[in-house]
Amino acid sequence: MTEISIPLVNLHRQFLEVKDEIERGIAAVLASQKFIKGPAVRSFETAWLAAIGARHGSGCSNGTAALSIALEALGIGPGDEVVTSAHTFFATGEAIRHVGATPVFADIERASYTLDPTAVEAAITPRTRAILPVHIYGAAADMDTLSAIAARHGLKVVEDAAQAHLATLNGRFLGALGDAGCFSFYPGKNLGAYGDAGFIVVRDATVVDRVSRLIDHGRRSKYVHDIVGYNHRMDDLQAAVLEAKLAHLPAWTTRRRSLAALYDERLKAHGFKVLEPRAGSLPAYHLYVVETSNREDAMEAMRRQGIDTGVHYPVPLHRQPAFDGLGYGTGSLPVTETAADRVMSLPLCGSLTEDEAHRVCDAFLGTARP
Ligand SMILES: *Cc1c(COP(=O)(O)O)cnc(C)c1O
Repeated sequence: MTEISIPLVNLHRQFLEVKDEIERGIAAVLASQKFIKGPAVRSFETAWLAAIGARHGSGCSNGTAALSIALEALGIGPGDEVVTSAHTFFATGEAIRHVGATPVFADIERASYTLDPTAVEAAITPRTRAILPVHIYGAAADMDTLSAIAARHGLKVVEDAAQAHLATLNGRFLGALGDAGCFSFYPGKNLGAYGDAGFIVVRDATVVDRVSRLIDHGRRSKYVHDIVGYNHRMDDLQAAVLEAKLAHLPAWTTRRRSLAALYDERLKAHGFKVLEPRAGSLPAYHLYVVETSNREDAMEAMRRQGIDTGVHYPVPLHRQPAFDGLGYGTGSLPVTETAADRVMSLPLCGSLTEDEAHRVCDAFLGTARP
């Protein structure tokens, strides 16, 4: 086996860049001995809300919990339907199930890989209570059209922004555009903790109160529990890591965008389909995705040259065994299925060099066909 010299995400290199700040942040938490609901969590919550121009929100234990807590806080539960994308990580559908609701999968736009508003409107039934757009790869879903559809039908909008840190649409940050927006700080995400963490942004101050209770055992005060909640709190060590990294996130995001532009230019010149971001949007490029008709061969050839690649995601949610009971057959979401068959992810992160990006392109173009 060839040693991998270009991983999909180079967390080691990122660590060397932020080591001192992170160690200082962790040392401060250790000195305080406040690990849950302490000052580091409060400080990060304030910093993250400011970074994305949002007013209300709460840290939480992970991105999956962020989604299920957001849905529950907005009153979505058993018997309700939530229209979402199947071209996403499994957690999107899982979180809808966690609150007892039913995911209804609508097809995506080929250009951006995000929910197709026409398909969303066609999927609405009298039981629909929410639309859950996924800003997959950090690219904006069509929030204007989806929000207009939601308003027309009296639905909530919950954004899955787990891949969309600092991505914007018309100058506003994704995750701060819906009734709620959910972030993941899983280690490999654009802003990654050293363990699990997540965030729930909400538009309405009364909803954030419910969110805060749900993530902390439904607590009103130390010994009084108003509702049955969960243990889904963010912890202070993770908050300290996240706040240290947050200072670097704008530069890392800019770097991802310029590397994505380099990839775009080289791959489009050879006729490859790449992400086509919506007009007025700046993606976060959590992943750099290109389509190819001979994915297995291309991945194998690149691996032999020490370059790691991935597929996000080969099995769409409507074809997952866990969702068999929902009754979607092959062919029911044609655009989603085509994307799942053809997408592959190339190495991309804030610490990838241009030389490495060119090596990735050379290796890809040596084998892959459009
Ligand atoms: C990572 C991710 C999640 C889940 O986040 P966790 O923190 O791993 O629970 C949800 N949706 C999408 C699109 C993701 O990429």
